Parts: sequence; C-alpha cells; structure tokens
Amino acid sequence: MKAWEVVGYTADGEAWCPACAEARYGPAHPTHERRDREDNAVHPVFAADEWTYEPTCGACGAVIPLRVVDVRRWGR
Ligand SMILES: [Zn+2]
Repeated sequence: MKAWEVVGYTADGEAWCPACAEARYGPAHPTHERRDREDNAVHPVFAADEWTYEPTCGACGAVIPLRVVDVRRWGR
C-alpha cells in the first residue's frame, strides 16, 4: 500500500470505496472536481490519512484501508 494511494472518497457525509464513488459520482477527472449531492467536493482519502475509526463504504460495506489512530494515545 502506497501512502499516496487513493483508497476511497468522502462525500455526502459518508465514506466510499473507489468503485462505489465512481458509480455514484462518475469517474475521477484530473481537472474537474466531482461534486456530491449536496454540491460539496468529493474528497479523496489516502492510505496515509489518519482517522479515529476504520471507515467502511456506504454502499458495499468494504473497509477503507487507511491508518486508524488510537484516540487513547492522546490521554483520553
Ligand atoms: Zn463500495
């Protein structure tokens, strides 16, 4: 897994795997940002991104393989 590899997308308040993001919002385009149904940008998620939980695709349930950080390490 490369750190800069796009492992999914976030849009409409959910995470999506690349295949489902393409099915919902169309193929990724190098210059035109895709927009979600609330007209916000569809953001790529990279393998090196750190989330406090492991996201799953809102359509197929696939796990988005990014870095999950343990919030307890900040003293909670
Ligand atoms: Zn999916």
